[in-house]
Amino acid sequence: MEERAFKTQNSMKFEEMELSGFGKYPKAKCKVTRPTGIEDLKEYLKEGPMVGRGLGRSYGDAAINKGGFVAESIHMNRFLAFDESTGILRCEAGVTYENLLDTFVLRGWFPPVTPGTKYVTMGGAIASDVHGKNHHKAGSISSFVLSFNILTASGKVMKCSREENSDLFWATVGGMGLTGFILDCEIKLRKIESPYIESKAVKLGNLNALFDKFEEYDADYHYSVAWMDIVAKGSSYGRNVLFLGNHSKLDELPEKLKLRSKEKHIEKKISVPFEIPFSTLNKVTISLFNSMIYMTSKNKENFEHYDKYFYPLDSILNWNHIYSKSGLIQYQLNIPEDRGKEAVDKLLHKVVSFGGGSFLAVLKKMGDQEGILSFPFRGYTLSMDFPVKKGTIEMCRKLDEIVLDYGGRTYLTKDSILDEVTFKKMYKGLWEKWMDIKIKYDPENKFTSSLGRRIGLCPS
Ligand SMILES: Cc1cc2nc3c(=O)[nH]c(=O)nc-3n(C[C@H](O)[C@H](O)[C@H](O)COP(=O)(O)OP(=O)(O)OC[C@H]3O[C@@H](n4cnc5c(N)ncnc54)[C@H](O)[C@@H]3O)c2cc1C
Repeated sequence: MEERAFKTQNSMKFEEMELSGFGKYPKAKCKVTRPTGIEDLKEYLKEGPMVGRGLGRSYGDAAINKGGFVAESIHMNRFLAFDESTGILRCEAGVTYENLLDTFVLRGWFPPVTPGTKYVTMGGAIASDVHGKNHHKAGSISSFVLSFNILTASGKVMKCSREENSDLFWATVGGMGLTGFILDCEIKLRKIESPYIESKAVKLGNLNALFDKFEEYDADYHYSVAWMDIVAKGSSYGRNVLFLGNHSKLDELPEKLKLRSKEKHIEKKISVPFEIPFSTLNKVTISLFNSMIYMTSKNKENFEHYDKYFYPLDSILNWNHIYSKSGLIQYQLNIPEDRGKEAVDKLLHKVVSFGGGSFLAVLKKMGDQEGILSFPFRGYTLSMDFPVKKGTIEMCRKLDEIVLDYGGRTYLTKDSILDEVTFKKMYKGLWEKWMDIKIKYDPENKFTSSLGRRIGLCPS
């Protein structure tokens, strides 16, 4: 069993360990604490600046504080109250989507917005203001957060909602943990009749067709996302598969699935057991993988369990190991709706011109959003995974230029490379507004992170 080396500073216990996000890039030594409640956190705050951390599913350094304290919410994971008549749940910040799904799906409730992994805490979801395949219809998680309690730098717990301390509410959703430690929250769940999704896959030969189909299916489907083969060239350039879905009604399901709807779901998992010492991903393997997905996809309508539909990658534990020790960068951008197609085309050409490809590339439609630093706005969001290797960062800088030209921005929770100047251009008018609130509640920067310092939201 792994020996854990706990150290103490005054009465505070911490573990010095190397942390990273899901992309395993960058990595930094931090002092990790696992508070069990407010009193612990208040003590920790006296010892030095810190940042909150959930399950570390942000890709870069948002939940890392190089050389400093990181407070993990793992022991703050209790459900506090649930109102069956309204679907309003109150829970601690360390409750995960997995906990929530395991407890509430069989009772007929579902998270109103879910990211592409269920290994995310509610605190992490609020701090990143996560979105799902339904952003254009429903908004991001903050649209369903009624209130939260947050421990601020002064040691005071403040209740925040749209009515109470609303400035802190809007600075905290999407505020990447830099306004305080979220203790618990109140969110409204969505009523469902079954754990199944009535899904439809549509294979499309090019980008134009995809943008048309997004519009065509908008009215009929709550969820939509497209997987794109961004390696294919010539006549196959821009080919993609659009995945659509709605929550299935019980009486629409075949008998077999009606019965299964009442059973607890048991997920089968496989694992990539260790970090592969060299990157298995290169032009050839990425191209083969992408061709295989496209070729094996069929135009079909189906009933899929929510687990398979929303979290296909969760069944492969540690799948980020395939990117080798040097890790991966997930580059997620959002571009205004009116020039979306043109920008996506330009970005894809730029990736191809660098000889790059992306193991996974997805395109989604986004709607409006209110949080000050929340990533979404009405437009199109494209996410691409790149192995960290020579030339990757240079390519991302070129992509940044295109994103800026089109009035877009990249997503902080996925980011590991953005510099201060580019960030401040992308979030112009917003970061200044956010900073006023940060100074009001945390003038001494007691909440800080590696990301916050890198992009100039906290002093270095
Ligand atoms: C496979 C995969 C798919 C994903 N798909 C999506 C997607 O579809 N949409 C999307 O929006 N995101 C997506 N994400 C990103 C993920 O949803 C976010 O990064 C989320 O914030 C991670 O939650 P976490 O609990 O692991 O938080 P962490 O990664 O630990 O932290 C994320 C941020 O939240 C802050 N934070 C955490 N807990 C607290 C707290 N209690 N108080 C204050 N701040 C806190 C941290 O300081 C940090 O800034 C995906 C990630 C992966 C790995």
